[in-house]
Amino acid sequence: MSRSKKNPSPEEVDAARRDPRLRRAMDVGRRDPEWRLRGRCLSVDPETFFPEPQLKETPNAALALCSGCGVQAACLAWALDAGDRNGVWGGTTPRERQVMLVAWRDTVAAA
Ligand code: SF4
Repeated sequence: MSRSKKNPSPEEVDAARRDPRLRRAMDVGRRDPEWRLRGRCLSVDPETFFPEPQLKETPNAALALCSGCGVQAACLAWALDAGDRNGVWGGTTPRERQVMLVAWRDTVAAA
């Protein structure tokens, strides 16, 4: 089983709870339904956000775009709500979101 398939450890989840990306997403939540219209990725090839590790592609280009995106928090909130594990969303990799999802479901989704 690959590392990305392992269940997150309690230590990983604790670290995710302190991650500023997750905290901002929890603050924004569902309050910005129009976020997709303002994403920096609107004019970028979507494949950029779905790198293929088997082809030695990395998420770095997508993460760089997300880092300057004004709707990163709303995008991440959407991905966590959707439970989306593929590609880069809201400045996070699938593995990062897998860990964040545990904290997300404990707080936002349970509210
Ligand atoms: S955070 Fe990244 S994936 Fe989300 S809208 Fe912005 S550029 Fe696109």
